[in-house]
Amino acid sequence: MGVRAAGGHYTVGFGGSVEAVEDADGTIRSTWDPAESVNAVAFDTPLAGWRGRHVNTLRLWSARATDPLRLEDFNRGDHVGALADRVRLEAISRVLYPSDETEAGHELRLRQEYFFASASLQDLLRRHKSQHGELASLADHVAIQLNDTHPAIAVPELMRLLIDVHGMPWELAWDVTTSVFNYTNHTLLPEALETWPVSLMERLLPRHMQIIYLINGLHLDAQRSAGRQDNGFLSSISLIEENHSRRVRMGHLAFLGSRRVNGVSALHTELMRKTVFGSLNAIYPERIVNKTNGITFRRWLYQANPGLTSLIVDAVGPQVLDDAARLELLVPLADDASFRDRFREVRRANKVALARLVADRLGIGVDPEAMFDVHIKRIHEYKRQLLNILETIAYYNAVRAQPTHSWVPRVKIFAGKAAAGYQQAKLVIKLANDVARIVNRDPVVRGRLKVVFLPNYNVSLAEAIIPAADLSEQISTAGMEASGTGNMKLALNGALTIGTLDGANIEIRDHVGAENMLIFGLTADQVAERRAAGIDATAAIAASSVLADVLSAVETGVFSPEDRGRYRGLVENLRHHDHFMVTADFDAYWATQRAAGTLWQDRGAWDRKAILNTARMGWFSADRAIMDYARNIWGAEPGQR
Ligand SMILES: *Cc1c(COP(=O)(O)O)cnc(C)c1O
Repeated sequence: MGVRAAGGHYTVGFGGSVEAVEDADGTIRSTWDPAESVNAVAFDTPLAGWRGRHVNTLRLWSARATDPLRLEDFNRGDHVGALADRVRLEAISRVLYPSDETEAGHELRLRQEYFFASASLQDLLRRHKSQHGELASLADHVAIQLNDTHPAIAVPELMRLLIDVHGMPWELAWDVTTSVFNYTNHTLLPEALETWPVSLMERLLPRHMQIIYLINGLHLDAQRSAGRQDNGFLSSISLIEENHSRRVRMGHLAFLGSRRVNGVSALHTELMRKTVFGSLNAIYPERIVNKTNGITFRRWLYQANPGLTSLIVDAVGPQVLDDAARLELLVPLADDASFRDRFREVRRANKVALARLVADRLGIGVDPEAMFDVHIKRIHEYKRQLLNILETIAYYNAVRAQPTHSWVPRVKIFAGKAAAGYQQAKLVIKLANDVARIVNRDPVVRGRLKVVFLPNYNVSLAEAIIPAADLSEQISTAGMEASGTGNMKLALNGALTIGTLDGANIEIRDHVGAENMLIFGLTADQVAERRAAGIDATAAIAASSVLADVLSAVETGVFSPEDRGRYRGLVENLRHHDHFMVTADFDAYWATQRAAGTLWQDRGAWDRKAILNTARMGWFSADRAIMDYARNIWGAEPGQR
């Protein structure tokens, strides 16, 4: 994990109390006396930039106990207990996202967030001070991007370091803080918007809680003085949520502590302004900006798909490797039959390689000539793997009902992990595997349909699947996917998207053209309307015989003969509490899947669209996204090449 950095270690405290003492000159100084502390040790990994022109340092932190062994306990014969504190403290950097199902997991998560934020800020301040001799100019040289709310505790931590440790007055410290930080929001899901109980914060980070109260007091006073007296409005902008128990809203804290706040697609940014940050946006209308995500073409095209990369370089020249916008030069080649053949040959080789991987790992044989229909991403209800599985079952039923019809051979490929405590998502994984088991054994659909769930989804597996995908499933409930980046990786590699008007799918459509995608389903506005109306799904299900048959098969245990009740609750939930609009979108999805099948049969037309996807995805390069952050958020320009 990199090389241990010389001199790179800091102390991070937890718990204890805060004492206010009056200086000789009459100013009140607060000192935090933590009950325990842990060392943060720096490890550096050099990251060489494209063509080796720049090398940056990635600095990661490891937690080390300040006192690794309680020698007294050890010598009393308690050899395990003597090491207990060490194990407990070093757990902070052991697991990236500890499950927050338990109280202990929850607290560990906050300790972790604070540990990484504090170590990074202490390091940054030390380096700035040694270079410039003071800290007031910090924002002229440093930009900190809060990647989601996980590091939002950095806002009060920087205030604490500037005021308590470096003696800066509050106003200047707040000015420095709000000039240095920016915040990227990644989700509007209420359950993903981090809040911490005030009681936990007071116990673990008492000085930070005081600072948060001070920030909040000044913020609310300023709004009252500006004539905003309405209590509903004031409580909507407060850093403290007062509903059931009192909790700190980390998203609001990140917003107030930042100069710019951004969403990650045009739709997501618009929804942010209207929903989670509606009230704060009314006060600070300039603060929220959009920065649509991008992906690194170095990994997701050049490294993952060398065959397609050399075809592209051959066709449009090597400058395309430095300037993704030049992919556009491929556009006229979509009409060139011999180029289409070469494109298709490259993709076929990738599919053969994936078929081999599937055979090796799962013992399932898949035909590289079949359409590879790919749904890979974290398993989540809003991403609607369930919609795809239900459509798979409907297809299975249709093939069995008419075995002599000329069905388009399909391989449905799923991969994705569920969060440790997310039961419903784990049940979806179980259903995908149960359906695969029944379908893959059925001789009636042999050569027409295979279902594959590849375990242990990670970046390496994604790199193997994406170059071999024909159809890219991007079917989230509209309004719920902030951006998506899997959608970009797959389209860049020449997969056609079947998807909803959600997140960056909308901007992908704007670039590649609606005629080169398969768009279906409710829009974000329609989803909001339906939710407000509280529509029950019973009528929609009764009106769709295809869906009704699928649900009754799942419900009665056709795919879980050893446990017939396994999916009863899941189907019951769809009938009456279909928050994610699986039933409402089913018919449109089914019809669009059939349209995809028809298009596949005209291979020239399919391949033409696939090439146009690759050709028009240049804008989604991370180079464009990062340049936009640099120029319009950090105020930085590219260095010398
Ligand atoms: C790109 C990627 C994601 C994000 O995928 P979405 O489809 O945007 O949700 C998740 N996991 C891995 C391993 C990825 O490569």
